[in-house]
Amino acid sequence: MTRLRWLALFAVAWLLAGTALVRWDIAQRRDAFQAEARTAHRLLSQRAAELEAVLATLVLLAPQADAEARLPALVPQVLRVQRGGDAAAVALSRSRGQAVVAGFDPALRQFTLLQAAGPEAVALVVGMDHWLPRVDWPYAAAGKVAVRLVLGEQALVLSPGAPALGATPGFRFAKTLGPRSQPFELQVQRATGPADWPWAPLAALAAALGAATALAATLHRQRGARRRAEELLRLDRVARLNTLGEMAAGLAHELNQPLTAVLSGAQAARRMLDDDAPAPLVEALDLTATQARRAADVVARLRKRLEQPEAAPPLQPQDLRTVAQQALALLQPEFSAAGINVRLLGPACIVLAEPVALTQIMHNLLRNALQAMAEVPPPRKRLDVALARGASHGVLVVRDHGTGLAPEVLARLFQPFTSTKTGGLGLGLSLSESLAVAMGGRLSAQNLRPHGAEFALSLPLATPHDQPADPDR
Ligand code: ADP
Repeated sequence: MTRLRWLALFAVAWLLAGTALVRWDIAQRRDAFQAEARTAHRLLSQRAAELEAVLATLVLLAPQADAEARLPALVPQVLRVQRGGDAAAVALSRSRGQAVVAGFDPALRQFTLLQAAGPEAVALVVGMDHWLPRVDWPYAAAGKVAVRLVLGEQALVLSPGAPALGATPGFRFAKTLGPRSQPFELQVQRATGPADWPWAPLAALAAALGAATALAATLHRQRGARRRAEELLRLDRVARLNTLGEMAAGLAHELNQPLTAVLSGAQAARRMLDDDAPAPLVEALDLTATQARRAADVVARLRKRLEQPEAAPPLQPQDLRTVAQQALALLQPEFSAAGINVRLLGPACIVLAEPVALTQIMHNLLRNALQAMAEVPPPRKRLDVALARGASHGVLVVRDHGTGLAPEVLARLFQPFTSTKTGGLGLGLSLSESLAVAMGGRLSAQNLRPHGAEFALSLPLATPHDQPADPDR
């Protein structure tokens, strides 16, 4: 996974968790808002009921100018008591049999509560500033919540609240007060928006998710590195075994000629000796010939054994592109460290191959290309791995822009012990070629102009119906 993908994963996780957190927070604040509004409604309803009770008491009593004059001092919300009033209001009160609001003046912050009593009526002029509950009232005058009391077309603003935030409606509450005599509607509204979001918890969430993503990325990277190290180790073990075999085959090949020469030399010398020759010399030559023959037999047996392995490796359909991808992934850290730009080109291509041998050939070719480009200037640090499908064979080409093949190497490139590297065994390419031939394929090489080398591995295609569609065709 790339860094960008981890970042995207973090962003999506934060977005989802953050949205859930914001929604939960909004729900909590809405509940709190509704609870406060219900408290305010209850308190105002109680105040309205108190007024109703005071008025009912006055209605029951005979007019007492003194007491009525003293009432405002005892009940501060009552500014004064009036006898009589607006005829329509009196008629309404009488018809309903209860007190009614006979006048409401938001500018003066007053209303008049009137109740018909016998032929006339008693009215209380109420100062709303004193009428509003003081104790437990949840809203500050300069708070964010807008509170209004509405009657008909008129409204008394108790708290202006914060201005509405854009199109967000925010939270709303509207309910008429309990006592039917004072049908004021309490309207409460609170604008809400991103400024109210729980930014500190959101930041903490981002930090926690960031840490979790970083940890997951590290674990993922470590697991990838561990798997890569294991794979390299496995490849190395196989390579060592194969290299030993190749080395033995190389030695057998190299020793064959000198041993034959020693044998024929000893036999010729023996023939040249006459009967008077000293016995020790004759014995020495016979011994030389016998031992040379014995050594040649050992070498011949070894060669025979190596050239005819007991069981041919099982060939399986293998996608060259997938195997190339895996081999490139295995060496990716080395390519990155060397600043080499790698491209994989061409279609998927299913060939018949022995998986381990195929991986080993690719690994050898890629490693050689990596080493050939170690010292070249950055613009030449380019490696192309290209795939192509022929009529009967699939071809994988590894093309680098490194030093190119030295002329003395080119002639015997696939022979054992050909190397220009200090400490190089010179067995990688000879082994790769042996493996390719054993799978019915071939490995070839050429120099590129102006720089670099190209190796082509060709292997028989699996049955044609195994070939995936070629997107380029
Ligand atoms: P080794 O890597 O041990 O030398 P190889 O058989 O893999 O053995 O390679 C043999 C030689 O072929 C190398 O020493 C090098 O000179 C040459 N060679 C192989 N691949 C490349 C390449 N991509 N560019 C230039 N020279 C190469």
